[in-house]
Amino acid sequence: MNPGPCGTPRFRYSNNSMAKDANFQTTLVLFKPDAIRRGLIGRILTRIEDAGLNIRGMKLVRATEDQARAHYLWEDIGKRHGETVWKNLIDFLLSGPVLALAVHGNGAVEVMRKLCGPTEPLTAPPGTIRGDFSHHGYALSRDANQSIRNVIHASATPEEAERELAVWFDPTELYDYRRCDHEEHFLE
Ligand code: ADP
Repeated sequence: MNPGPCGTPRFRYSNNSMAKDANFQTTLVLFKPDAIRRGLIGRILTRIEDAGLNIRGMKLVRATEDQARAHYLWEDIGKRHGETVWKNLIDFLLSGPVLALAVHGNGAVEVMRKLCGPTEPLTAPPGTIRGDFSHHGYALSRDANQSIRNVIHASATPEEAERELAVWFDPTELYDYRRCDHEEHFLE
């Protein structure tokens, strides 16, 4: 399949025939530009590894505008949050490199969302990545006319993960391997 320049995933990402099986999911995670600029990569990555999730792919990427728009779809973000939020979000994603990760595990989509916490750091509980590493609120974001600095993105559903993985990774960039604690986490 030919690379689609914008919005069109280059391939239909499939972890295996059970890609949507909660036991074996791969999800897309982005450490947003604020996390990279603030030197938070190691500390956030540790939380993901500590939960027993496998890193199948990882790369530092300076997103293209097409890639940013393919990731944050106007049809989704624009409709849910309005044009200003969407435009600021695209600008923010393009403001510096992001770390893209393909994260695999039992219920990985839900687990990563739990680790991230709610969208707004101001109200995200302690113990979550957004709650612990930022305190931005929607009001500050609105007054400053800038995207909220909430450090991290994780796909919301298995379907979204499949679409977003294709925006950031080629299948050849994902690896399957067993960690030495695999048996404890996957019971196999
Ligand atoms: P999440 O990233 O928690 O899944 P959404 O998909 O609703 O949240 O929104 C995508 C991103 O848009 C958020 O992570 C955040 O960066 C930005 N965003 C959402 N709502 C707002 C808002 N009201 N003000 C500023 N930025 C927002």
